[in-house]
Order: sequence, then C-alpha cells, then structure tokens
Amino acid sequence: MDARPGLHSAPMDNRSDIFGLTFPAFTALAGLGPGKAANLRAAYSAALREGRWEPARYLSRVDAEALFPRFFAGLLEPARVAEEDGEFGATSKAVLVLSDGATVECVRIPSPGGKATLCVSSQVGCRMGCAFCETGRAGLERNLSSAEIVAQAVTARVALGWEFRNIVFMGMGEPLDNIDGLSGALAVLFEQAGLGLAQERVTVCTVGLPDGIARLRALGYRRLGLSVSLNAPEDATRSRLMPAGRAYGLEALSAALAAFPSRRNFALGVNYCLIPGVNDGPGAAAGVAAFVARAGRALVNVIPYNPGSEPIGRAPTEREVDAFAASLASAGLQVRVRSPRGRGLMAACGQLGGPAARSGGRPGA
Ligand code: SF4
Repeated sequence: MDARPGLHSAPMDNRSDIFGLTFPAFTALAGLGPGKAANLRAAYSAALREGRWEPARYLSRVDAEALFPRFFAGLLEPARVAEEDGEFGATSKAVLVLSDGATVECVRIPSPGGKATLCVSSQVGCRMGCAFCETGRAGLERNLSSAEIVAQAVTARVALGWEFRNIVFMGMGEPLDNIDGLSGALAVLFEQAGLGLAQERVTVCTVGLPDGIARLRALGYRRLGLSVSLNAPEDATRSRLMPAGRAYGLEALSAALAAFPSRRNFALGVNYCLIPGVNDGPGAAAGVAAFVARAGRALVNVIPYNPGSEPIGRAPTEREVDAFAASLASAGLQVRVRSPRGRGLMAACGQLGGPAARSGGRPGA
C-alpha cells in the first residue's frame, strides 16, 4: 500500500470522503460556525487540488483535532499504469483500486496542442451489454459513488502526475445508469472552492437512455457537453450492437436529445463506432443524417472499431474510415475521425475492463 496521504484500503469507520462533498456540504458537516469559512475553504481546496486532508495547516489546533478524524481525502491506489506513444504524445491507462478491492480504469488521452483529456469510469462493469465492448461482457458489479468518480481525477493529477484539460465520462460503465453518482460528482468537479472545472470541459457520453438524458438536463448545467453512441441509424442493427436500445428505440432517443440543449450554440456529439460489414452499408450515412435532423445540431465522431477479446468483426482500414466519413460529410454532417489511440494498451474505445485488465488490475492477481 502506498504511504501517500489520503490513500486508503477500506472504509473502516464513518468518516466522510471529501471528494464526494461540495464546499457547502463540507462546511455544513464540519459545523464550525461562522468566521471559519476562509480556513475551511483552504483546507477543502487543498484536499481536492493536492489530495491532502491536513486541517492543521489551516485551522486552529482545537478545530483541526476535531475535524481531522471526521473526513478523509480518498485517493485511489494505482495498481498498474501503462503508456503507449502516439502522434500527439503518450496515451496512459491506469487501473485504480477502490476501497472494496474492485478496480476501475481511467485513461489520459493526449490531443494536439499538448491538451489532454481524462476518460473516467462511472461504474464497476456495466449492464448495457454493448456487443463491441469489453466492459459490457463482465456485467455490472456496482455503481461508483460520487467520491470515487471525483477520486479518479484527483488521483490522476496528484498520484500519477497527469495533466489534463477535459474530462469525458467514457470509461467503464454507463454514466446515466448511475445518475446519482454522476450528478454528485459533477457538482464537486464544478465546485469553485475545489477543482473548479468549467462545465464545457466535461462531457457525459451515454449509450442514450432517454430518462437519464432528461434527468441530466434537469440538473441545469447549461454548458455541460453530451455525446451519444449511435452506432447504427436503424433500430434492428442498433439493438444487436447495443441491446439497451431495444427498450426505447431511436424515436424516443432522438426526442430526448432534441429536448436536451439549454443553450443556443449546443452541439451534440454523436459517436459512431465503425464496424465494416455491420454498420457501414449504403444507407448508413443518410440514416445518420436523418437521426441528426431529428436530434439537433451535432458533430459526428467516427470511431474505428477496436477488436477486443471477442471480436464481432474486424477493424476498418483507413480507406474505409475515410470513405465513411466522406459519405457522412456528403450527407451534410459535421464529421471528425477519432484516431484509435491506446489500442495497444487496451485503452481505446470499447476496450476498457477487458480480461487482461481484470486479471492485472488487482494487486496480487
Ligand atoms: S460501451 Fe459503454 S454502455 Fe456499452 S457496455 Fe461498454 S461501458 Fe457499457
């Protein structure tokens, strides 16, 4: 076990993890009364930005001794970190151990210009069962708490030394299937006294659960990003690739997406995992355009399929990817091709939580 401050092996008591608390919630729990707000803010800020719960640095001895045993900063234990060099720098993947011994993965993805995005997990496993996804094969073990979601970002910065500008909820799990954990984590990530992330730097990526999309909108984050996995423009193929889609269908999904934007310049992300011979047929581009026409302004991300441990097809060639992107552009869509960064690490889209990671993730496994 790492001796750095805040790392913990199991919740042995009823302390509150600061990573799951907004500053108002923290001050209410601390209950120190008026006049201590600035000191409490400094202690809270250090916990979120440095991963240290050290109230003695900011509060009187009496107050610090009263508060110290009641809170902790729940950094996660990195069990394994791997890197793969690429065009814009190294893609890094970390397997992080939670307090009950379960593991999740987060990935730092470099971008042009030195900016990077942290891809975080929202669940241990996932019950959506997408055919192209390693995580889906394992089923859902449990939801992550808000604190465990935020802990991935703090651990990445503090314990792994990863710098990143953006956060995407595109790791293990379906974030809208854990809306309570997600909404609590967003509130902490946006908390000015803590990490203070701008809303536009965070994107929630979903398989497209209409009720969850409505609940996310109701949180009122007007600049929050949203992307949805489309992967096929008609229900039959989409339901084969994404069984969760059977329960609602594309009509209901596009209606929920059309109601989502709370600002005029909102652009939805539409992710399309391209699998040759499965979802790149002659009518696919027109179908995607029809879906986008119903759902609202969008940028379509074409993601080349990454075969995992149980391939359902092959990876597309560069020519096939370019041809499909061109057909989308011809249909009047804004298109971007995502290069498959981290494929060798099993860190690319659909590859998190695979067997190699599961066996290698737990210490001693
Ligand atoms: S792609 Fe996302 S929603 Fe689908 S099974 Fe994998 S983790 Fe779950």
